[in-house]
Amino acid sequence: MSKRQARPTPLNQVDREAFRDMCRVFAEREIGPRWKAADEEKRFPRAFYEAAARAGLIGITATEEIGGAALGAYEEAIAMEELAKVNPNLAVSVLVQNVAGSILYEHGHAQHRDLARRNIAGECLVAITITEPEAGNDIQNVSTCATRDGDHWVLDGIKSFITLGGDADILVTLAQTDPAAGRHGMRFFAVDRRTPGIETSQIDTYVNRPAPTFRVMFNQARVPADCLLEAGFAEIMAGFNRERIMVAARWLGHMQTALAWGLDYAATRRQFGRPIGANQSIAFALAQAHLDVEAARRLTYHAAERWDSGVPLEDVILDVSTAKLHATQAVVRVTQTVLHTAGGWGLTTELPAMRWALDALVAPVTVGSVEIQQRAIARQLGLPVD
Ligand SMILES: Cc1cc2nc3c(=O)[nH]c(=O)nc-3n(C[C@H](O)[C@H](O)[C@H](O)COP(=O)(O)OP(=O)(O)OC[C@H]3O[C@@H](n4cnc5c(N)ncnc54)[C@H](O)[C@@H]3O)c2cc1C
Repeated sequence: MSKRQARPTPLNQVDREAFRDMCRVFAEREIGPRWKAADEEKRFPRAFYEAAARAGLIGITATEEIGGAALGAYEEAIAMEELAKVNPNLAVSVLVQNVAGSILYEHGHAQHRDLARRNIAGECLVAITITEPEAGNDIQNVSTCATRDGDHWVLDGIKSFITLGGDADILVTLAQTDPAAGRHGMRFFAVDRRTPGIETSQIDTYVNRPAPTFRVMFNQARVPADCLLEAGFAEIMAGFNRERIMVAARWLGHMQTALAWGLDYAATRRQFGRPIGANQSIAFALAQAHLDVEAARRLTYHAAERWDSGVPLEDVILDVSTAKLHATQAVVRVTQTVLHTAGGWGLTTELPAMRWALDALVAPVTVGSVEIQQRAIARQLGLPVD
């Protein structure tokens, strides 16, 4: 297991609240006016990435030396929660930058750190390029191969569901360099998306539409040998546990917005001469949704605090997977409750309830599905699951 260091400069509570306020104002100003058009057009507004970089929201945990904010997972979760309150999908574009960027600066060579510096400055959009049509949760089975040829690697294969894959400048790509070595042959490459032999095509989804997903086809794509990142597969994959905390924070933000709206609707919508929220069936369902939100808040920030404390990875996995499992299931329950509360009007485009419920459906699926988190938790609890 990888060694991890405690975060050097924790913010105190007052500074954290100021940081949260800054994120909230940023989200209202930069996401509020953009997300609906991006959703309808299914197109990522690159100007949003540049604005996030200017606000210091790219590279939140990166060192100051490369332009980062040198904060912790706790603050990164605050940012994700506040951004996702306005829209979870433009929020995820920031999440992807922070995760992919940290792969570059934590596990790359000098030129990769330079890419990370440009990523943090808003000049280099990055995508995480792992999933394949036949290798979803089973990522150890990726078949995209990288073959050494002199001063180059030649990449062949197809990736799927790559968030921002068609927009990114750099694709942080997992490929097999030695099929006989199994997972030990799997390595990450930082690949220029404009390399001849790389093509992308958008996958039409019901979710994540402002930060769309793409197929990425590598057909004899020759990339310089120094695109290969330094660290091995296991070391880099360990860092994805931080992403899982951010995924939990993303859905924590989303479910709060949905619940706040649902409470307001239940208090103001009148049927049979009284607010629908006067019916216990509606009121109790919303009370249960409140429980889901509060549990998500506590589990997410507990996991972030544990991550920042620098305890060994094996001691934080249970907290991370528990937080992610709960938030990704809870957001579906909460948004479904709100959708039902809105009745027939909830099914129209005149109200936001259906959009929120649709967006939530991706939560149990990505970055290690519900079942994969359940398996991780069961193992941590000592059960002999395979
Ligand atoms: C909107 C969106 C954005 C994405 N962004 C990215 C990205 O940026 N980069 C990237 O690389 N990938 C990305 N992905 C891919 C995502 O991580 C995969 O969809 C995910 O890994 C699931 O893979 P799959 O869809 O092939 O499902 P499968 O792995 O085929 O799983 C299907 C079902 O079987 C279950 N299952 C599978 N194995 C087991 C098991 N051992 N035990 C119990 N149940 C199991 C799963 O939980 C799931 O319910 C994205 C996907 C979506 C939908």
